[in-house]
Amino acid sequence: MANFNIDAKQNMTYDAIVIGSGISGGWAAKELCEKGLKTLVLERGRMVEHVKDYPTMNLDPWDMELRGGLTPELQKKHYKGGRSGFIGETNEHFHANDLENPYTEVKPFMWVRAHQMGGRSILWGKQCYRWSDLDFEANAKDGHGVDWPIRYRDIEPWYTYVEKFAGISGDPLGLPHLPDSHFLPPMELNCVEKHIKSRIEKDYPGRHLIIGRVAHLTVPLNGRGKCQYRNRCDRGCPYGAYFSSNAVTLPAANATGNLTIRPFSIVQSIIYDEEKGKASGVRIIDAETNEVMEYYARIIFCNASALSSTQILLNSTSNRFPNGLGNDSGELGHNLMDHTYRIGAMGVVEGFEDQYYKGRRPNGIYIPRYVNLDEKTKSDKFVRGFGFQGGGGRSGWGAGANLEDFGGDFKDSLMKPGPWEFFITGFAECLPYHENKVYLNKDVLDKWGQPTLSIDCEWKENEKALNKQIRQDAKEMLERAGLKDIVDFDNQHEPGFGIHEMGTARMGRDPKTSVLNGTNQVHACKNVFVTDGACMTSSSCVNPSLTYMALTARAANHAVSELKKLNL
Ligand SMILES: Cc1cc2nc3c(=O)[nH]c(=O)nc-3n(C[C@H](O)[C@H](O)[C@H](O)COP(=O)(O)OP(=O)(O)OC[C@H]3O[C@@H](n4cnc5c(N)ncnc54)[C@H](O)[C@@H]3O)c2cc1C
Ligand code: SF4
Repeated sequence: MANFNIDAKQNMTYDAIVIGSGISGGWAAKELCEKGLKTLVLERGRMVEHVKDYPTMNLDPWDMELRGGLTPELQKKHYKGGRSGFIGETNEHFHANDLENPYTEVKPFMWVRAHQMGGRSILWGKQCYRWSDLDFEANAKDGHGVDWPIRYRDIEPWYTYVEKFAGISGDPLGLPHLPDSHFLPPMELNCVEKHIKSRIEKDYPGRHLIIGRVAHLTVPLNGRGKCQYRNRCDRGCPYGAYFSSNAVTLPAANATGNLTIRPFSIVQSIIYDEEKGKASGVRIIDAETNEVMEYYARIIFCNASALSSTQILLNSTSNRFPNGLGNDSGELGHNLMDHTYRIGAMGVVEGFEDQYYKGRRPNGIYIPRYVNLDEKTKSDKFVRGFGFQGGGGRSGWGAGANLEDFGGDFKDSLMKPGPWEFFITGFAECLPYHENKVYLNKDVLDKWGQPTLSIDCEWKENEKALNKQIRQDAKEMLERAGLKDIVDFDNQHEPGFGIHEMGTARMGRDPKTSVLNGTNQVHACKNVFVTDGACMTSSSCVNPSLTYMALTARAANHAVSELKKLNL
């Protein structure tokens, strides 16, 4: 891939520094490099090269010692993240080491982190939905949080821009509150999903069931292969068929000749030049040697992921910013959000026994938000809304996995698929509460002696009311669609389980109540841009990463235009 800047002292100065190489950092690197800026990407984790560093991508269960499980040793390493249910033998090497990187849960909070080149872009679920003015106007309309400084029209061209390059497959629907993306051909609903779609859409005018909109290629694009439906994405994709920094944005950045990548570089703080009134660079700790070094640039993009970017800003103190860079408002660290998740219903679908499908589609269904869209759909129990993800599949294929049996009858029974099942689980919007927050903890240090984060966040009455409605609606929809043996559930997960943590350095119109302006610049230090989830002012109910991509491309464009005008 790129140059390794091994002898850092030879050249410590760049046009731009990007902190973090995940979904948003990859986009920042691509955009800044393509616009001609010599760009240094500082990544705290190790190098992961596309394909070469995906050691489990082709392993079958019988190739692995624990058939995908974690040894007691690995369970210790992931003693926090392991609770998410997302970590196994196939992908644990892409999840952060909790022993080296502790955090404190003042109230229970699941923080899923990935510390390597590409960050969580290797692991994510790829669900991509545009936000709309229902989201960007929500705070102003119901009075929670502060008003977004942008509207849909400001970000719309940037959604199109990133979608064309990332490749998003999906079906247009024409809903104003879930705008259509620039789509590649959609994946297909299976027979049971089509059946349930027709029942829900007949019984509930205004509700829709669609195939998920995902960052998977259904046709080849820019030299990347199309998805082979192996559903082994979180091990890395040898075809480059889903969007990741490693397969898509970093190679594009590298192709310009303007990219320098430095792995094992933990950004400790941003250096503020009191005389010039702007940031001059960053201070890093080499994760392998513990050496402390400084790098300099005209602009700095913070893309370490929502909470880690805020951690860096809080740790960047100076005479001008004694409480953290850009923290004049006192809002840095506050207004932490996520989506509620794992509440819904499941059941058995009778019939369709003669229907079989080959392959494993790495996607499910989506039921877009249908409450609080207008006066007619207004709820008197809560503000904001929720959508459902889920899917149908045939059970029974793995039924024999844990049976200690043998013989011809046993083998025959393994060849018979079970009944069709279907489930849906809601994702609800969380409000921005000042008291949901993170702050530096100087009593608990990480492996490199750095202060860690304490996270103090909980669901409140509005989220609980949304969750109650999700469970009720999920059960009712499945009942009316004719499913049997329906089980509704609320796994009562704490914040963080949605893995959509957002906020803590919000955008806003007023520097007195927000950290960033409408182009993601720190109000009082304009050459620092924060374009990951930290910048979010509200949380919508749809997956957020597509919006981070669009905001990043938009901010990079603004940064370069401001540099040219000598405004930064
Ligand atoms: C299992 C799973 C499923 C998901 N599914 C979806 C989905 O379907 N749709 C969706 O929209 N989102 C999904 N997400 C969330 C999505 O992955 C994140 O929103 C997204 O990756 C955030 O991008 P980012 O650039 O902010 O951070 P990340 O991708 O987390 O990257 C941050 C990078 O910064 C580096 N870093 C951190 N601190 C420092 C430091 N001090 N110095 C240098 N580098 C640093 C990290 O090592 C990392 O490489 C999912 C996540 C997971 C784990
Ligand atoms: S399902 Fe598609 S994107 Fe995922 S690993 Fe397989 S080919 Fe790649």
